Amino acid sequence: MSACSNIKPPQSNIDLDYLGKQKTQWRDTVNTNFSKDDINNTTILFGGMTILQDRLVMAALETKKEKYIALPNPDFESFRAGKAYGNRGQCNPTYFTVGNLVKYLLNIQKKTGMSSREIVQKYAYVTANGCGPCRFGMYITEYRKALNDAGFQGFRVFSFEHNKVTNEAGEEVGLNLSPALYITPIKAVLIGDIINLLAHKIRPYEVEAGATDKAIEACYDLLSDALRNNKNLLLSMWKCRKILEKVELDRLQVKPKVMIVGEFWAAMTEGDGNYNLHRFLEAEGAESIPQPIINRLMLSIWESTYFSNKELDLEDDTKTGYFDFSSTKRKVITKLLKVTIKSYFTLYAKAIGLHDYKLPDIEALSTLSRVYFPLDAEGGEGHMEVAHLLESIKHNLAHMVISVKPFGCMPSSAVSDGIQSLVTSRYPSANFLSIETSGEGAANFYSRVQMALFKAKQAAKEEFEALEMPEHIPEKVNNYLYQPKSDKAGTAAQLIDSLV
Ligand code: SF4
Repeated sequence: MSACSNIKPPQSNIDLDYLGKQKTQWRDTVNTNFSKDDINNTTILFGGMTILQDRLVMAALETKKEKYIALPNPDFESFRAGKAYGNRGQCNPTYFTVGNLVKYLLNIQKKTGMSSREIVQKYAYVTANGCGPCRFGMYITEYRKALNDAGFQGFRVFSFEHNKVTNEAGEEVGLNLSPALYITPIKAVLIGDIINLLAHKIRPYEVEAGATDKAIEACYDLLSDALRNNKNLLLSMWKCRKILEKVELDRLQVKPKVMIVGEFWAAMTEGDGNYNLHRFLEAEGAESIPQPIINRLMLSIWESTYFSNKELDLEDDTKTGYFDFSSTKRKVITKLLKVTIKSYFTLYAKAIGLHDYKLPDIEALSTLSRVYFPLDAEGGEGHMEVAHLLESIKHNLAHMVISVKPFGCMPSSAVSDGIQSLVTSRYPSANFLSIETSGEGAANFYSRVQMALFKAKQAAKEEFEALEMPEHIPEKVNNYLYQPKSDKAGTAAQLIDSLV
């Protein structure tokens, strides 16, 4: 049975009139119409981050005139809808995210009986878009193609880059996606990153199963209220610290630490898109280090500076007498953005008590990886997958590194993995597992992770047993706020090491 056999195309899609006719080329028809009246009549859908971040951003957007709804987390049904209506040969995140929107709209249709035309009028979708050599540059077209084939011709898909949406006459109307819109949602994303990082540090050691999730939910209630009602976010983060401190922990359990890297979406998503990798690792007795969205933002900022410096080199003003103000302006804005994002992250992290997370220094990581990875090779995570592995090996950050790559990903599978085999041949002790998520084949995925995890567990045990146990173990070791500096990888080993 094929993976998409249980997706039933709507009536409009089973028209077989095309048989026997001349082939035609499908062309993307862009509809970004959004009139002032649409502000009150249109629901804007978005999604694609972690579950907590989507919910926090939705709360932050409740202060806006338009109505925003975060799509549910993509699942296998989304994937099947993506395969049924999307183009052939796409990468896995495209199928999951595009299919998620199609699935959502088809469900609305089923539940409410609304016609496709009504849905097209009442809903729109906003998403990030990119360019470069990977499929990310074609996402918006993929959305339109799949929506079209699912019967939602003319569905409006906006990218943040549209900034101000225009009508057919080219006048700016209605929806305003200007940078000011993003300030509070960006704060929500950063807060979501911090809480997700803490959740991964706390949950593996909780004494009562489910206590961390309950505490995180209580933090969500506090923070979403602060975002909706413009309350002090720092104070809310401080209150969350008090909530998290109540989760009883046993942090001296010896667990392997697993760093998750790879293609951004595949490594970050918390569901079927990566076979629920983070939860699976925890269930198998490991602690994982996730990749927060801020790391991707830092990479984008670094890339913007790197490539604009290259442009400046090409247009050497000393030779041409021409000074490119637009590049200089872009550099200043980029720098400002970087400082602002880092400052907010640091402030919120301090307030809730995430002390030991070091934001990636992309310049340092590029120095580390440039020997292996040409920095001019854009696409996907660029040099970051290779850099993370090298960083983990050199600074003993984890007992194992898993690189998650979606089926069909060109930058991650074809480029980074080719280079990783050179890195692992130079560092044979590295426990590195590159693993593909195809949307099918979970059993194979889990069994490969389990095999590599066995070695990681051994390494964590040996690291811990090599330490001298102190006579007295203070209570602070079981408080998540105690995050000592150490050159050990495992949490239990770090704590004991800090006491002797
Ligand atoms: S990096 Fe890979 S998985 Fe991600 S959008 Fe590009 S091709 Fe697809």
